[in-house]
This record gives sequence, C-alpha cells and structure tokens, in this order.
Amino acid sequence: MRNESFDVLVVGGGVVGAGVARDVACRGFATALVDRGDFASGTSGKTSRLVHGGLRYLRNYRFGLVRRAVRERDLLLRNAPGLVHPLSFLIPAYVDHGPRRTVLRFGLFLYDLLSKEKTLPRRSWLSAEEAREREPRIAERGLAGAGLYYDAWTDDSRLVLAIVQDAGAAGAIVANHVEVEGLVHQGGRVAGARLRDAIAGASFEVSARFVVNATGVWLDRVRTARRGPTIRPTKGIHVFVPRAKIGNRSALALSAKRDGRVVFVLPWGNLALVGTTDTDFRGDPDRVVPDSGDVAYLLETVNAAFPDAHLGPGDVVSAYAGLRPLLRKGGAEKSESDTSRNHAIFWDPDGLISVTGGKLTTHRIMAEEVGGLLALRLRRPRSSATRNRPLGPPLSPLDEFTGLGFDEETALHLQGRYAPEQVRRFLGLPSARERILASTPHIWAEVDIAMDEEMAMTISDVLVRRLGLFYESPDQGVRAAAMVAERMGKVLGWDSQRMDLEIRAYEDLVRAHQGFRAGHGR
Ligand SMILES: Cc1cc2nc3c(=O)[nH]c(=O)nc-3n(C[C@H](O)[C@H](O)[C@H](O)COP(=O)(O)OP(=O)(O)OC[C@H]3O[C@@H](n4cnc5c(N)ncnc54)[C@H](O)[C@@H]3O)c2cc1C
Repeated sequence: MRNESFDVLVVGGGVVGAGVARDVACRGFATALVDRGDFASGTSGKTSRLVHGGLRYLRNYRFGLVRRAVRERDLLLRNAPGLVHPLSFLIPAYVDHGPRRTVLRFGLFLYDLLSKEKTLPRRSWLSAEEAREREPRIAERGLAGAGLYYDAWTDDSRLVLAIVQDAGAAGAIVANHVEVEGLVHQGGRVAGARLRDAIAGASFEVSARFVVNATGVWLDRVRTARRGPTIRPTKGIHVFVPRAKIGNRSALALSAKRDGRVVFVLPWGNLALVGTTDTDFRGDPDRVVPDSGDVAYLLETVNAAFPDAHLGPGDVVSAYAGLRPLLRKGGAEKSESDTSRNHAIFWDPDGLISVTGGKLTTHRIMAEEVGGLLALRLRRPRSSATRNRPLGPPLSPLDEFTGLGFDEETALHLQGRYAPEQVRRFLGLPSARERILASTPHIWAEVDIAMDEEMAMTISDVLVRRLGLFYESPDQGVRAAAMVAERMGKVLGWDSQRMDLEIRAYEDLVRAHQGFRAGHGR
C-alpha cells in the first residue's frame, strides 16, 4: 500500500466498503481497502444475520426497497450457496395483537410476487392447529393462524470476510487494523489519505484518484467538506439463548406485545438468536453494548410467544449490540423504525465519495452504483462483474468432511465455513483436529486457517468474527483465550507482554458485553 498509487481507496471494511472494493477491483481498478479494526468489526458483524427483503417494510408501502432487497437475496442464494442458506419462517397471527390475518396474507402474497427468480419455496397459510403442529410450544390463546414464508440466513462476519477475500482475489490490496487518520488534499481535492497501521504503529500516506468513505456510523468523522451530520444511528441488540429453553423448531417472526415491533427468533445450532431492538443512540459509537432494558424487552417478547420458556437474563449465553447507520432526514424527526432504510451516495465538494444506509442484503447493488459512478469518471467500462460472480466457499457434501475423520456435528460445522481441501491443508498441525472446547464443534485448525488465510490479527478477530465462540460458548470463549493467544503468538511472533495484553483486551470485551447481567442500563 505504501508503494503503490491507487485508482480507488475504500475506507471501511464493513459489508458496504468490502462490496465497493470487490466491485471496483472486478472492474480492473487499482484498489485498496482498509479498516481501522477488523473486517466486520462494526455494524456488519452485529446484525440479525438475515439475508432478506424486509417483509415489515411492506407495511409502509416501501415496495421499491423490498423488491431490491428480495432480488439481492435471491442473487446471494444463487452466488453464495456455501454462505447464504434458505430459512423458513413462521409468522403467527393473533386476534388481540400483531398483524391482522388478512393484512399478513396480502403482505406475504406481495413478498412472493416481488421475487423475480422464485429461488425460494412459495408462502403458505396455516390454520391455528397446523401452526401448533409445526411449533408446538407457541402460545395457543387467540392464535388465528400463521403465515409460512422463506428468507435466508448467513453468518454476517464470514459473509463480509468472503467479500473481502474476493476483492483480494480480484486484485485489491486489503488490510484490517489500518485506520484512515485524515484525508490528503491537493489543490482542494482529495488525493489520498493518511493511514496508521494499528498493529505496527506506523503512519504513512497513500495516494488515490478517488477515496470512497464507507465507514457506516462513523461516516461524518471522515467527511471534512460536509454541511451537517448525515447519520442518525439507532441501536439494535440481539441475544443468544439455549434453543431447548424456547423449544422453537424453525425461525419465527414475532410481534412484541409492548409496541408491535417484529422480533426474530432464529435457530442457530443448539442456540436461538433473538433480536432486535430499535432505539435512538446518542452515545459514543465505539462503545455500544446491550443494556438490561434491551435484554428484558427481547426476553419478554419471547416469553409471551412461548409461555413455557420462562427465559431470564441468566439464560442469556451472549448478547451484542450494533448501530444502524440510518440517514438523517431534514425537518421533523421520524420514529426510529420509520427512518429511511434506503442508501445514499454523497459526493462532497472536495471529491470524497461517501456511501451509507442500505442493508447487509443490498450491499452488492449499493457497491455496483458506486462502481458505476467511478467507471464514468475514470472512463472505464460501466458494466459490473459481481451480479453473477460466485462468492465464498462452495457447498461441499457432508461426507467430504466426515471423510476427513470428523464426527457429524463437527463436519456440519465445518461444512458451513470451509472447503474440504482447505481444512485438509491444516490437519498436519499440532492438535489441529481437536476441539478447542468440548462443548462446541470448533477445532484448532480453524484458528490456523483464521491466521493463515483470513487475516486474523488479534484474539477477538479469531474468537468473535472467524470462529464465533464469543457468541456460542457458555463462557464466551474466555477459557480458550489464553490457549488461542499461545497458538497465535507462535505464528505472529508475540512476546509474553503482547500475549497478556491480548488476553486482557479479550476479557474486557466479554465483561463489557455482560454489563446487562448486573442491571446496567435502562
Ligand atoms: C441490529 C442490526 C441488525 C441488522 N440486521 C440486518 C439483517 O439481518 N440483514 C440485513 O440485510 N441488514 C441488517 N442490518 C443492517 C446492516 O447491518 C447494515 O446496513 C450494514 O452492516 C452497514 O454496513 P457498513 O459497511 O455501512 O457499516 P459498518 O459495518 O459499520 O462498517 C464500517 C467500517 O468502517 C470502519 N471505520 C470507521 N472509521 C474508519 C477509519 N477512520 N478508517 C478505517 N476504517 C474505519 C469501521 O471499523 C467499520 O468496520 C442490521 C443492522 C443492525 C444495527
């Protein structure tokens, strides 16, 4: 990065920045991508993990938005079959709360209609009895029936990582833990940026004909020639709880009794992922954690829908919070859930291009728009190559993983993340086949893959975003942290001081995310 000059420097390695880097690298532009933390360490790694059209936006007649997202969902299902998987949802209708039966049926009809490729099975309507057959533990009183429809799920951080990897494969130079400290101007126009390598501590400049600012909720910090704030962050939290406590068999879209908002419950192995909330956020975006009020709201909604669940804060395995980079609209403030989910591209007077808004699902089309604008300026072909380009590992048969000697649980876990030959390459390393923790299927070879092929530089990179033990293991990976530090230290040349720092930083992160247990917050 120090030695080259670029057509495009992309700032921010969330899904949007990664998508832009992939799009413009595929067009043949000399591309660089940096993130001051890890890829997906911002909002993109803290989502509901859905690749979806957003059924609820139909209530507000947002047909264009939903159509765009549904079609991007279908493309991702086709192009990234190892990363994006179909998921059936039950959406119960009750006589005394939530959406009315007729409205719901019409909404689901439209949702199917907006999909062009019809990749997923069609919706159907279930009677109350049929709904209880599918989900025997949902509340019976007042149940008027349920819609059955399909969307898709993904591991958000791994999706972003795959996009970054594909950008790299297309020729982009990518780096995590490299921060843009400021823009470099020449004759009043942006001509590059000042970067700081957070691991090595060195600062340097890169020159680029265009700089794309894709820093999400941090967008306004990078823009120096703007008029006012553009982002209005809202906070959304999620919790993982043992699935056996709820007893859900598949995914559900519930209506919160308190305010009618949609709360998703997704199956995640032996856990269920529950989210999300939507509240205005005025704090420091670098420090966003779930509080006790947020957690209580989600548990209350699940307990009302599943009367035998009796979930309390003690059942929560892990919780996380993210900020939506929603666009601030001038004039009267809208309620958080009504604030626009559209995306926007700003072209500042100094030439800085900023792109924000949208969703994980719609990142590709946002990126294509930015790439198209740049192609026009750089006088290059305008067509984008990402619409039909495969993404992520192929979906390999399970027996290719059991054939490597793994039990079925481990094989299933690996199948969702890697190609078999990729795992095979690392099996000769010490204890590579062994589980990191007895209770979860993650194996040591994954730590090696994370360092060697996925640019993991810190314990959090490995445990939070590459492996997910932060979310899935009962102690959030704290017991594994020291062992992971040792293995990483050997490869990355850490001394004992660096190892201690890493372990302490990880423990602090976990502690900060457990504040809700002590009743911190609302
Ligand atoms: C609770 C919640 C649930 C959601 N669920 C879904 C869902 O299920 N499906 C869906 O489609 N969408 C979902 N979304 C929306 C989606 O997550 C976001 O729209 C999307 O992730 C935003 O991506 P981004 O790249 O703009 O921002 P980010 O992911 O935040 O990326 C910005 C990056 O910029 C980096 N950065 C900041 N400043 C600098 C700097 N100076 N130098 C270098 N790097 C910098 C940050 O480290 C960060 O990684 C959800 C959002 C939230 C909050």
